Amino acid sequence: MPEQHARRRARLAERLGDGGFDAALITRLANVRYLSGFTGSNGALLVTPDAAALATDGRYEEQSAAEAPDVERVIDRNTVPALAALAAARGLRRVAIETHDVTLDLREELAAAAPALDLTSLGAAVEELRAVKDADEVALIGECCAIADAALAGLLDSLRPGRAEREIAADLEGRMRALGADGPSFGTIVASGPNSAIPHHHPTDRELAAGELLKLDFGALRAGYHSDMTRTVVLGPAADWQRELYALVDAAAAAGRAAVSDGATAPDVDSAARSVIEQAGQGERFMHGLGHGVGLDVQERPWLGQSSDDELAAGMVLTVEPGVYLPGRGGVRIEDILVVPSAGAEARVLTGTTRELLVL
Ligand code: ZN
Ligand code: ZN
Repeated sequence: MPEQHARRRARLAERLGDGGFDAALITRLANVRYLSGFTGSNGALLVTPDAAALATDGRYEEQSAAEAPDVERVIDRNTVPALAALAAARGLRRVAIETHDVTLDLREELAAAAPALDLTSLGAAVEELRAVKDADEVALIGECCAIADAALAGLLDSLRPGRAEREIAADLEGRMRALGADGPSFGTIVASGPNSAIPHHHPTDRELAAGELLKLDFGALRAGYHSDMTRTVVLGPAADWQRELYALVDAAAAAGRAAVSDGATAPDVDSAARSVIEQAGQGERFMHGLGHGVGLDVQERPWLGQSSDDELAAGMVLTVEPGVYLPGRGGVRIEDILVVPSAGAEARVLTGTTRELLVL
């Protein structure tokens, strides 16, 4: 939707004016995509208050014309220096760059290509804009969630002792593709038995055994957008300690979701869930932040954690994913995706799989 990209660029241009910049030189590909619609693997975008120029190489000549018909296009393999030269040629001086993305090498190339430019930092301005989703983005993330839900529903019946983590991960990813995903959001996590106590375990040849926890953390990628969900199940029968652990994490997740609201601070939302786990004496065993935004990146702003200074705003889409990990025994994480509601409304949960403990 060209109008949508133009609206986003206008919002960025407002910030440029506020910061006294003449232009922004966007190099992060997800940000280029967000502001122009261009999905190729080599591209950069120059945004001024009233225009934009997209640079890419010859492979993407047709694609860029189709995806970003409303911006000027520059075909040059050295996209970023080419746009810097263009900016200088047009008399622009104060150009903001994405200093969290630009390497020292590229910085030097820019200085060589356009010595007259006064390069300053844009900060994470585009990521901040991206944090609040428009309705189309929420719908796309919802589609990714629905694909992941359906893939898991199909997988559950087939989970039996003897199947290996690695093979289950491939199965889940195959199911998501068959349901319309372009691929998985990230390398699918399948963690069985004691491996479930490792928060970001990589699937191995370990085989499932009866009576074990099985943690599945995965998502679908479609049209550039991601989903992210964790469910922990038990290959029956479930032991009391497993049920207790699950109930604790489930209660923490519910408290976290309830704290997600317009204007809430990231540490407060994190604390809402964390305090439930701390009160049960397991605070040390929840060693990651509560969640993160989801969108064109599978992890993006806002960051939910004690050290984050992000504040939630209506329309943000984020995960709530507390976990408790008992080394050598097993761990439980429950992760859902929510849309931050406007004041007085209730948060919409996009992940649809039940949070009841599934004993298979
Ligand atoms: Zn996850
Ligand atoms: Zn996550």
